[in-house]
Parts: sequence; structure tokens; C-alpha cells
Amino acid sequence: MAKQYDPYDNVIHVMEQAVKVGNIDDHMFEILKHPQRETKVYLPIEKDDGTIHMYEGYRVQHSNICGPFKGGIRFHQDVTLNEVKALATWMSLKCAVANIPYGGAKGGIRVDPSTLSNRELCSLTRRYTFAIAPIIGADTDIPAPDVNTNPQTMAWILDTYSQLKGKPCSGVVTGKPVELGGSRGRNSATGRGVVISTKLLLATRDKKLSGTKIAIQGMGNVGSNAARIFHHRDAKVIAISDVSGGIYCENGLDMDEISIYLDEKKLLKDYNTPGITHITNEELLTCDCDVLVPAALENQITVDNATNLKCSYVIEAANGPTSQDADKILDKRGITVVPDIFANSGGVIVSYFERVQNIQELTWTRNQVNEMLEKLMTQSFEKLTSVKEECKCSLRMAAYIVALRKLIFTENLKGLFP
Ligand code: GLU
Repeated sequence: MAKQYDPYDNVIHVMEQAVKVGNIDDHMFEILKHPQRETKVYLPIEKDDGTIHMYEGYRVQHSNICGPFKGGIRFHQDVTLNEVKALATWMSLKCAVANIPYGGAKGGIRVDPSTLSNRELCSLTRRYTFAIAPIIGADTDIPAPDVNTNPQTMAWILDTYSQLKGKPCSGVVTGKPVELGGSRGRNSATGRGVVISTKLLLATRDKKLSGTKIAIQGMGNVGSNAARIFHHRDAKVIAISDVSGGIYCENGLDMDEISIYLDEKKLLKDYNTPGITHITNEELLTCDCDVLVPAALENQITVDNATNLKCSYVIEAANGPTSQDADKILDKRGITVVPDIFANSGGVIVSYFERVQNIQELTWTRNQVNEMLEKLMTQSFEKLTSVKEECKCSLRMAAYIVALRKLIFTENLKGLFP
């Protein structure tokens, strides 16, 4: 019987293994097993009907040894402090794998945003920003979009923070609208990074994206952009799903047409066109494909379905989609997993590019951004594959080893205060 999934246990367990497999000096490791700061805030909001509702919000700052804390803010009804702790830790590891000058953090509000009006959502975002304002800032902790948040959410945070400080503070967030200093290419960057990861992995097997059969779970920002870009690179997106269920077409789905449909906030369960079959989320995970892309939430590939997966590769677009026990099953079955802390690093990498443009007061073209993203991810993938060879381990283990070597080396350089 599998034990209850705990995302924080999961990340700590994998880090502990990586310290052993990578033969890493563990003197400073204890520090990384705990976040530097956990903040919990209570947010009273006046609803449109005049009643007062209380929401709970969090910001966990895991590590800033490599630079300012960095990480998204998610709005979801299942958000917990423990989950945000795990997500913050993954951000420290992700930034270290990408070799960008940031630490790791994550925030969240426990709310189902689909139950709020736009005004209520704006009030909640502004109240949350007010509550965490003392601990965020362009040089201290820089939030960004995550599940159910977007450039509009970042614009509200930017404005609230700037009002509090009495000056424009556009550097306080990344993933903001281009008109407010955001970077071109940031909105689709995580999805683009997922496609780049897939291309890099396939190249190690002398394979190409063209004609590769892809199944994607989740049609949020990451899943939908990845699906569209895969489609444009001639990969065959054969199955996709959202919260309402999935659709399947053996000859490949027309992601341009479906993107327009989804942009109108419609659900896949109502989508109909000749040649498609409606499937469940579980059927999507176990469908016959080359590449499975979990792009929804944590803990989707579990001991209950890992033996039934029919793909050759898993590209983790979501954070923590595979439980540690399922990971072992996939490994035994010869299914290669490209780990989240590399596969979905495109978002935070372009956040870094956004910050660099802000500091230099320059704007780069979309092509410049996309090319630099590909270059940086290619470099970090080469590093992962060389550590994989050196330590005879999985790509996940290699990614954790790369990250922990950097984090622990930096901890040792700085030493312990006081
Ligand atoms: N939320 C994204 C992630 O999980 C992006 C974070 C950022 O850009 O700071 O990586």
C-alpha cells in the first residue's frame, strides 16, 4: 500500500538520495532541508454581495544563497503551506540547474479563482500583495505567474507594491504585461521550454520532433503553449486534457483551432469535431504515445497508473507530477523521465531575461529571447547528461546532483552566519 503523498517529503527524499549518489559533501546539506522563511497571511475580502470572506495565503522563501528569492504565485483551492514549501524548494533547485542568479520561493492563496468575480480577484491579489510587501522586492524576492495566475495578476501586484513604495517598482515581479516592462516570449516560455526539453531528449536517441506522438495532461498556460508549439514543429499532438476531461485523435489534433476554442474559456468536454474521441484524464495518462507531458498538478503519475503508462518518455511540465514510488516503477520499465526542475525551467529562465532587460532598460525581440532560452537550456541539458554518465543515474538524479553541488558549494563559500 503506497503511503500518503507528501510533496515536501518527496523533494527531501530525492535530495537525500542525490547527496549520496553524487558523493556530495553533506556538511551544509541540513540547511537546504528547511526553508529560510515561511509566511502565512490571512486575507479578508469584501465579496460583491457585501459579505466578508477570509482567505489564507502563503509565501515560502526557501533559499537566497544564489540570488534573490524567485518563484511564482498560485491560486488554487487545494494549496497548502506544505505544498508551497515543496514548490519553493523545487524553485531553488530549478534556478541552480538553469545556472541563473536566483534562489527559490513560492506563494499561493487557497482559493478557487473561478468562484470569484474579476473585482474580487483583484481585491484578493492586492490584499495579498499588501500582506507580503515587507518581504518581497526586486532585490529580495520576485514573484511571477504560476497555476491560475497570469500577466494581469502580476500587473495588480506591481501596482499595489508601487503604490505602497510611492514609486514605480516594475522589477518587483516578472511575467508582467509587455506594456508594463514584461519580456516578449515570457508568457509562452514554460511551454516552449517543454518542447525544447523534448527535442533535446529525442536527439540523444537520434529522433526528431516531427511525427512524434505527444499526449498532454493539462491545458493551462504551460500545457496549451506546449501543445501549440509542438503542433507547429510537426509533432503529432494526439491527446490533450483539461479539468473537464480529454480528447484524442490518432492522426493528431489541430492545436491552432483548439487554442482559439480554449481562449474563449471553453471546456474540452464540449469540444466536438469529426475524428476525435472523448477520453478521461486517466485514459490520457495511459494512452499509446511516444511522449507523455503531465502539465497539470503534482502527484498525477502514481503507483496506481505507472505500470499502465504506454509512453517511452515523460517530460515533466508540471512541478512534481510523478510520485517517488511511481518514479522507481518508470525507471524499472525503461521509461525515461525528463525531470520538472529542468523540463519546466523555461518560465523562470525568461523571467531572468525579463529582469536583465528591466535593469538595462532595454527590450529584446521575441526571437532573441527564444534563441537565448534554447541556448541556455541546451547548455544545462549537456551538463545533466554528463553528470548522468558520471554518476550512472537517472536524469532526475543528475539534475538534483547538479543543483545540490552548486547550492552546497555556494553555502560553503559564504559559510554560516553568525
Ligand atoms: N511559476 C514558474 C515556475 O514554477 C515560474 C517562476 C518564475 O518565473 O519566477 O517555474
